[in-house]
Amino acid sequence: ELILGIETSCDETAVAIIKNGKEIVANVVSSQIESHQRFGGVVPEIASRHHVEQMTMVLEEALEQGGLAVEDMDAIAVTEGPGLVGALLIGVNAAKAVAFAHEKPLVGVHHIAGHIYANQLVEELEFPLLALVVSGGHTELVYMKEHGSFEVIGETRDDAVGEAYDKVARTLQLPYPGGPYIDRMAQTGTPSIRLPRAWLEEDSYDFSFSGLKSAVINTLHNAKQKGEEINPDDLAASFQESVIEVLVGKTLRAMKEYGVNQVLLAGGVAANKGLRGALQQAVEKEGKKLTIPPLSLCTDNAAMIAAAGSVLYRLGKRSGMDLNANPGLDIEKPFN
Ligand code: ATP
Ligand code: MG
Ligand code: FE
Repeated sequence: ELILGIETSCDETAVAIIKNGKEIVANVVSSQIESHQRFGGVVPEIASRHHVEQMTMVLEEALEQGGLAVEDMDAIAVTEGPGLVGALLIGVNAAKAVAFAHEKPLVGVHHIAGHIYANQLVEELEFPLLALVVSGGHTELVYMKEHGSFEVIGETRDDAVGEAYDKVARTLQLPYPGGPYIDRMAQTGTPSIRLPRAWLEEDSYDFSFSGLKSAVINTLHNAKQKGEEINPDDLAASFQESVIEVLVGKTLRAMKEYGVNQVLLAGGVAANKGLRGALQQAVEKEGKKLTIPPLSLCTDNAAMIAAAGSVLYRLGKRSGMDLNANPGLDIEKPFN
């Protein structure tokens, strides 16, 4: 079984081909980071234009990499949401055109389901499982009792983790996206600055990162007013320690309460070295298994969309030629 995946929800134009839901045959990602960097974030209009310019080339390159033609595919999977509506539309329309022209089934995929299924490219999933999703727009704990079933048991009430990383980085005058820079600085620094931990209500699996972000900004501001020096590496390390402590703490509690044997880490922030290490140690200490995608499959790509698409295709999901971009798509209803 061969699935062609297409992803354009944000600022990477990506096409991949996956065999039997788990084997990467081709994986092409064209990033636009440089075009957005001088604006300090993703500019939606620029993103859409880049997708239009790149889509045909990226598609052709993926087919060439795999030595395959669209004819060889069993289905075309595409991110239908969430994301930037104009960006999503380019991928959805490309997928519809390819599916229509070659009479192939079309399967709409939830972007976050894709991030989660990036783990299936690493190893077989064992249900029930718990996924910690940490990305630029999402921070969620997702319980999966079987393939294609997603229950969000906790989510952020304000900023996503990636967003908090990027905003803190911006305050420290680092380039966009700042997550990887903060991560690197945190390896050097010492977590010596006291910052809050947002545990929220005792039984809640929800998250909140805006208070922590403000505390970092205030710390810098106050030091400046007093004419004191703050070591940016120490600030990065202190921020990262607070983030990791809460993420790992809540994941571990959910893992025990829901009785799962496998935990997945997913999303762009899963590339974070500190988080990968801390979660690995905590999960293994409890005798459970943690799966983390390799760095290239943590940030946006189409291999993960094809992997999730393969699962939905086997479960019988088919999208019509009326498939539309849906920026508010609900992961708990994957068969919309
Ligand atoms: P979503 O998936 O929620 O729609 P997105 O697709 O924009 O959002 P991803 O591509 O999954 O987000 O992840 C990008 C985010 O990951 C950015 O905020 C970036 O700073 C962050 N990130 C990447 N690498 C690291 C790292 N090593 N440490 C911390 N954050 C990181
Ligand atoms: Mg991106
Ligand atoms: Fe993403």
